[in-house]
Amino acid sequence: MNRFVSTFALSALMMPLAWGGAETASAEAAFTLPQPALTAPVPRPAGAGINLKVLPWAGFHSAVSYTFDDSSPSQIENWPKIKAEHVRSTFYIVPNGSGQSGYETTFKDIVAEGNELGNHTWHHCKAAQLGGADPAGCPGGFSVDAELDKTTDYIKSLGQSDVWTMAYPFGDTGYTDAVKPRFLLARGVFPGLVGASDNTDPYVLPMVGYPGDPNPPGGEDVSVFNADLDRAEAQGKWLIFLLHTLLPTSSNWGLGENVAAVTGSMEHAKSRGMWIDSVVNIGSYWIGERLVEHAAKTESGGVTTWSWTLPPHFPGGRVVRVTVNGGTLSQAGKALAWDPHGYYEVSLDAGSLTWKK
Ligand SMILES: [Zn+2]
Repeated sequence: MNRFVSTFALSALMMPLAWGGAETASAEAAFTLPQPALTAPVPRPAGAGINLKVLPWAGFHSAVSYTFDDSSPSQIENWPKIKAEHVRSTFYIVPNGSGQSGYETTFKDIVAEGNELGNHTWHHCKAAQLGGADPAGCPGGFSVDAELDKTTDYIKSLGQSDVWTMAYPFGDTGYTDAVKPRFLLARGVFPGLVGASDNTDPYVLPMVGYPGDPNPPGGEDVSVFNADLDRAEAQGKWLIFLLHTLLPTSSNWGLGENVAAVTGSMEHAKSRGMWIDSVVNIGSYWIGERLVEHAAKTESGGVTTWSWTLPPHFPGGRVVRVTVNGGTLSQAGKALAWDPHGYYEVSLDAGSLTWKK
């Protein structure tokens, strides 16, 4: 299923904008990894041997990210209802539309609430239209580099310390060569789910999206969202919802879904105990898991050491949750504490982990 922005939506995205400098202020909330439900405390393992295992999805069985594309007026209008769910999401913004009423105030609030702003380019054009074969197709006159870098600068001006992920306009992977050096992850528009240890391309993350209004009128029923959440939970995978217009709205840019169906599905995901979080938060865990699982391993005098190097644009302060059969895990000479939820938390910034009996 290929996603597109309607002609009406595209014309709205082309609204002129004065590049106004908001002051840079790091207003984003500090990151904390959520805890899965604790039914009974798990005792610290005291068995023999190492058997280091990284828990997929931070110890949750599955994960879901809600991504909202295009920074449309409908998202500004419906933000209070999304905010009331206290779920961290990702908004892939197109700052050419930042002249809209309430735009900067809303997206600053979205950052302050711990959500992620991702890069969806400045003018939402196809890569080939930017200084390529069809330059007239994109009136902004920016290069591919400028489309990405000006958007990143704008996001930082709203208080987010960095920009880690992007979504291709129209799903156009013609941006990929420029995207890889700039971001940790990028979301495409191909349908699918992400497995904890599968070979999904981090620069073409798959998504789940629906036709939306007017087919069916008013968008999909909440049961459609919930069925996909149940599918991800059953398979133990990461689902990334792709959403455009939220209904009701005074300015329908197409592909609309009722905000009540979206928030209803968030409630369903909570009831299933899924990890609900932004693309950078779940995606960096997903990368971190694979880093530690494939870390270089050395053994000397009864001490085993794993070492890894974080990729560029990896956010700071991140952890993965691990188990071992027994013994003591340490980082920087300090023994890790066992969490009765059933894991040790390993700092990824530390770059190494040691085990001894
Ligand atoms: Zn878009």
